[in-house]
This record gives sequence, structure tokens and C-alpha cells, in this order.
Amino acid sequence: MRITAGTVYALDIPFVEAFRHSAHARRACDSVILRVVDENGFVGFGEGAPRPYVTGETPQSVVEHLVTELWPRLVAADLPDPVAEGLAALDEVIPETALRGVIAPNAARCALELALVDCGLRSRGTSLGALVPPRRQSISYSGVISAAEPELAARRARQMKLIGLEDVKVKVGIGQDLERVRAVREAVGPEVSLRLDANGAWNLDEALAFADAVVVFGIAALEQPLPRHAVGDLSVLRKASGIPLVADESLVTLEDAERLLDADAVDVFNVRISKCGGVHRSTRIACLADEAGVAVQLGSQVGETAVLSSAGRHVAAWTPRLSCAEGSYGALLLAEDVSVDPVHFGHRGRAPLLMGPGLGTEVVEERLRRYAGQVVELGARR
Ligand SMILES: [Mg+2]
Repeated sequence: MRITAGTVYALDIPFVEAFRHSAHARRACDSVILRVVDENGFVGFGEGAPRPYVTGETPQSVVEHLVTELWPRLVAADLPDPVAEGLAALDEVIPETALRGVIAPNAARCALELALVDCGLRSRGTSLGALVPPRRQSISYSGVISAAEPELAARRARQMKLIGLEDVKVKVGIGQDLERVRAVREAVGPEVSLRLDANGAWNLDEALAFADAVVVFGIAALEQPLPRHAVGDLSVLRKASGIPLVADESLVTLEDAERLLDADAVDVFNVRISKCGGVHRSTRIACLADEAGVAVQLGSQVGETAVLSSAGRHVAAWTPRLSCAEGSYGALLLAEDVSVDPVHFGHRGRAPLLMGPGLGTEVVEERLRRYAGQVVELGARR
């Protein structure tokens, strides 16, 4: 496979409603989409969702990293065919790069990997499902409730109950947490599974006190209660609280995964494709988790487009020990998604597998141009 041209779109798609958690308030999708074209005219799309408070990347750093570091080293090169040689072979030729102040430039890497995988698969008329074979025939998605005022959180929870969601996550760590959790639990009733995500807001003492206080609400799991590096304290909290813990911001790289497993720090890994640097690296982390008996939540980036959601659908279908899946909100959150067919979930959070070639979604390029704050055309190496 040889890539001959590309286009970078830095998106700005407004949300229908702002989404807030302890580290950020988000009102728009600022994903970076990379479109690549191969020597035979086949096209592929990839997406990275930069999060300064997760990997340290920004939309601007992702655009620059793609344009100045990754693209010049791959354009016109002889790249492995993902169908014939596998995702690992492709991952190996994507340069291992570093960026000052960034944990790992994984959103940029993800945009590139997905675009190459999508293009390579499309040139063979093959679905990503051939490379990550599904273990299940549909995905049930979890709802996610913003760290809103308790009344608004309860209203959103009632809507989720109404469409039959069986699994809901609530953002905490921003104040009025117990009131919000109580309001949501009352709204959804006892049978809906409730998880909480603090986005690293607390120290150990605060997390212990919170864990004690929420036991009465029947909490299925607590995600990232402590900051990224507090791995030792996570294991202390895990043993003391009795609430299953999920690692998210603490889990960006493969080395992070090994560190968390060595410390016996958590019960669940939140694997997110953009955060973890693409499909191949996400599946490697999920395999490590599987070997260690740790469950995997296939997470998403709030406000991601159909491109990342499609990749997420495939990986969720493949993931061993899948505890729950997030994402595929599409136009439930975005003013407009970028795909021809919607990818968002339906009643009870259910969504079918995607069977089409590549990632299985058809991107409307005109929408990328319409919502792009910046467009960079990439050509052959000079
Ligand atoms: Mg999280």
C-alpha cells in the first residue's frame, strides 16, 4: 500500500448540549480527521480526539504532528497491507514519536492508523471485522451523564431510562456529587447499573470518604477517582472501598497497563481507541487485561464522530471480557455527524455490527469541509 495524498480537517462541530466533567466543559467536537488516498485512488478516514487533560495533546498539536512528523515519513513509502500482513505490521511502521509535554501523541497516531487501516481494508473490499473478529453480534451502549446540576442530571437519567438503557455512567468530582448520584439513582430505579467517573478529581482521603458515602446507592464501578500517577493509592483504595475501580486517565500506554496490572490497582481498564493510539494498541492493552483477568470497558471520546465510533463498534465486538461500551452518540450529541448513515445506538442502547468495507462507515466529505476550522492539504514528498 502506498499513500499519495491526504487532507487534515480540524473539526468544530457544535454539540446540541454542553457536556461537563471535573476536568473540562465541552461544547463542540474538536476532533482531527485525516483523509488518505492510495496510489489506486482508494480513500480512508481516521480520527483523533485530542484531550489536553488525558494525553496532553491539543487539536493544534495533532494537526502539526501529523503534518510535520508523521506524514513526511509515511507518504509514498511501501506500507504493509493490513489485510495480508495484519495490524501489528502496520503499527510497526508508524513512527514512534514524542512531543514535549505530551504523555504520548496517541490522538495523532490514532488518526493516522485508522486512516491507513480504513484505506487498506477498502482497497481489498474487507471489513475491519476480518482483522478483529466479533465475539458478539450486537453492542449495548451505556449512557453518560454530564456533571450537571442534580435536577438536570435526573432529567437526563429519566430520558435514558425511557429509551431502555441498562447501564449509565455519571460524572462526579465537581461538587454536588452525592446529590447528583442520589437524583440519578432515584430517576433510573434500582435495576439500572450505575457507574461513576471522577476524572482524577480527588486525593486518597477524599476518594475513600466518597466511596463510603455512595455505597448506599449501589455503585457498579468508580472510574479514575485519583490522578493519573496515583497507582499505589489506587490499590489502597481498591482494597479499602470494595467498589470496583476503573482506570482511564491512568491508562494511556501499554506501559501504563503493565504498571496498573503489576500494582493490582484496578478491576477494569477503560480502553479508548484515540487515547490508546489506535486499534492495534487498544487491542494489545485489552489482551493484557484479558490475560490478567481484568475486564475492559470500551470507552469513547465525548463528541467523537462516526469515524471513531465505527472503530469503537468493531473493537467492542471483538473485546474479550467486555464489561460495557460507551460512545456511538453521533447526532444525539453532535449538531450533525459526518457519516451518510447514523452510527448512534437505538432502543436499549443497542447497535448492530458494521459490515461494510473498512471501518464500515461512509464519510460525507462536504460536511468535513463545512465544519472544519482548518484544512491542510498534504501531497507527495518533494
Ligand atoms: Mg473517564
